[in-house]
Amino acid sequence: MELDKAVLMYRFHYGQKIQVPNVTWYIEGADKNILVDTAAEAGLAKEFRGIPAKEIMSFEDALASVGLKPGDVDIVIATHLQWDHSANTHKCKNARVLVQEAELRFAYAPHPILAPTYKKSLFRGLNFTVVKGYQEIAPGIELIPTPGHTPGNMSVAVNTEKGKAVITGFCCLKENFGPPENVSEEVKEITPVVAPGIHLNAVDGFESVLLVKGLADIVLPCHDPSFMTPQTIP
Ligand SMILES: [Zn+2]
Repeated sequence: MELDKAVLMYRFHYGQKIQVPNVTWYIEGADKNILVDTAAEAGLAKEFRGIPAKEIMSFEDALASVGLKPGDVDIVIATHLQWDHSANTHKCKNARVLVQEAELRFAYAPHPILAPTYKKSLFRGLNFTVVKGYQEIAPGIELIPTPGHTPGNMSVAVNTEKGKAVITGFCCLKENFGPPENVSEEVKEITPVVAPGIHLNAVDGFESVLLVKGLADIVLPCHDPSFMTPQTIP
């Protein structure tokens, strides 16, 4: 998708265009087939939100690249239910969908300020398992509440051989995890991280970026351009 960079970085880089991917993550090595989010295809970005977008890879092709079909997915962890993270979840007919209670409540009755980011037909009728707060769902796979971007956003920490990798869930770039570029040293000093540009609560969003930065050995920011090319982490 082509976005204004400030959509991801609150109060920085207005007017700068950036191309970002919508990503689905497959956790390899667990007993079950687990996805984190299911992304959204270019057609939906254009049709639902009028965002310029082009297709990189279909959801089905992405799954096939790790030897799976949608019906093989046992669990989808929904970091949150905004359209760009959940558009293909309904294709995983046999999956339980883990979602935070606060997110499910908000998604069904969002405040108008964020309502255009939720498309109810994408998540209505899914086989939800509601979680509340922190939970370790399997050895080394943790759900960590990181509100702000949305009220029930969660990040997913996965222990890997190179340390703890954390999928942010909230919409951001790698650049959110450090001081902004092209500003004075004075501003850099007082801006350790940058809140997600889209948020219900910017202060909570800022704290969640800090929390992930502190927890993670490897930060996986959901819309970072580096993930435009499919890859394995670590
Ligand atoms: Zn997003």
